[in-house]
Amino acid sequence: MADSIFTKIINREIPSEILFEDDRVIAIRDIAPKAPVHLLVVPKTPEYANVAELAAGDADLLAHIVATAQQLANEHTGGQYRLIFNTGAEAGQTIFHVHAHILGGGLEEGTLA
Ligand code: 5GP
Repeated sequence: MADSIFTKIINREIPSEILFEDDRVIAIRDIAPKAPVHLLVVPKTPEYANVAELAAGDADLLAHIVATAQQLANEHTGGQYRLIFNTGAEAGQTIFHVHAHILGGGLEEGTLA
């Protein structure tokens, strides 16, 4: 299967503003922000298409994504944020390489990624 946009960002094949990186995840700023602060936390492995697969396959990695989101939110949104995993095309998912959206910095009622 072709590499996802996120794998290309992880491999530095396309540019992105990288805010955090370790051996398991990368955090970037969303290219089309839906809130004053809109960040994405993405596991480096492309093996999980969505959070349901990730939860079933690697709960430790899911916990690490959530902990990384909290750390980023502490730095960028004062620790108050919305954490969203769009799951399935009908729910708005467009990239089938699991990722968490962090939305914060002053949200309007009903803001979704
Ligand atoms: P999804 O709709 O799959 O839940 O979320 C995909 C997100 O990736 C969208 O919010 C979209 O704006 C973001 N996105 C798509 N292409 C790029 C890109 O090339 N760079 C960055 N930083 N974000 C992207």
